Amino acid sequence: MSGCETAVEYVYQYIDDEITVRRRARIKWHLRRCPSCVGAYEFEKQLKQRVAAAGKAQPSPEFLAQIREIVEQAQGEGSS
Ligand SMILES: [Zn+2]
Repeated sequence: MSGCETAVEYVYQYIDDEITVRRRARIKWHLRRCPSCVGAYEFEKQLKQRVAAAGKAQPSPEFLAQIREIVEQAQGEGSS
């Protein structure tokens, strides 16, 4: 599925609302057609919500890097 790299790259900003309207539209469009990116998006969104609900600060960069790796691995599995 093309565009996954871009979608994954911006999905974090998409959730954080730190993205331009044009990019938002692109991500939204991609998420509609790409189940693996929807999975990454939902996972990240829930993670953020849990962190917010816990009233804690942002997760550590190391933790986020780990999550990102897991997501990228999951996406790679389908397209080898
Ligand atoms: Zn995708």
